Amino acid sequence: MTDWVIETQQLYKSFGTTRAVDGVALRVPRGVVFALLGPNGAGKTTTLRLLMGMYIPDAGEIRVLGGPPGAARQRLGYLPEARGLYRQARVAELLVYLARLKGLDARTAERRAQAWLERFGLADWARRKVHELSHGMQQKVQLAATLVHDPDLVILDEPFQGLDPVNVRLVDEIIRELQAQGRTVLLSSHQLHRVERLADQVALIHRGRIVEHGPLTALRRRYMQGRIAVRLAPGGTLPADLPGVVTAQPAEEPQSWYLQLAPQASPQQVLFALVQAAVPLEGFEVVQPSLEDIFLQAVAGQEPVLAAA
Ligand code: ATP
Repeated sequence: MTDWVIETQQLYKSFGTTRAVDGVALRVPRGVVFALLGPNGAGKTTTLRLLMGMYIPDAGEIRVLGGPPGAARQRLGYLPEARGLYRQARVAELLVYLARLKGLDARTAERRAQAWLERFGLADWARRKVHELSHGMQQKVQLAATLVHDPDLVILDEPFQGLDPVNVRLVDEIIRELQAQGRTVLLSSHQLHRVERLADQVALIHRGRIVEHGPLTALRRRYMQGRIAVRLAPGGTLPADLPGVVTAQPAEEPQSWYLQLAPQASPQQVLFALVQAAVPLEGFEVVQPSLEDIFLQAVAGQEPVLAAA
């Protein structure tokens, strides 16, 4: 039997006439990086707040770490969307204080706070007051506060928000480390491309509903659009009628095209035709659908609103 760290059934939550969460069923297995993805206003934060016990659902069941929401706080680390640290507090003291609230003894709290400040490159800022730190640095302190008590389950609401590319990579690395240690990470993001290489499993949410979910590799296979990228050697030309190809669109690079395959056509068939026609090839690649491609297909016919990077 699968060990679900988070399990919800038919969750509903409305604010006035707005159905923020509309029948959400989520299952997060232990030890995975799970991404809840969708555009602004899709219902991600509301879902996470329901999991944290900050909102009471209108209807539905929630189990987190085997109990009701809010029951296992010491095993759980939560990075809220609305960030806010005590601005007058000194960074290290604040982390130690928050760690002690989670049940750590003073020495362990100090050791862990120090270790996380070093990991985030903030050791030199330990004695400074929070308001002296830049926005991105405060964000890293808040992440340190989320992780300082070594939680089994980490819930991160938009963890990349406000971070520069170097720090995005650092947070990526830390999420992978948490997973390698057997912890479970549930993160939300409206920036689908950010989690392309990070998430094992995803749930795509649109207008409060999960429109697609599952292991990312399985989704990519299922949404494989039958697209091929080809690059020809200089002077080579693409034959007008290639069997199995519906359209050929020029790509950004010179001598390169995207070929859209007919539903029954296979990449092998196209490669064979190209070789038979003696087309000088420099590149031939079956294109994987991106998370954004998958999202757009999953909500096709509805009205997708994807936020820019
Ligand atoms: P974003 O990426 O912009 O943070 P989200 O996916 O986290 O979006 P939610 O914050 O869960 O979306 O909001 C879902 C819907 O519920 C939105 O229409 C939002 O306006 C509404 N909503 C959320 N919280 C409240 C609230 N406290 N009161 C009233 N409406 C709310």
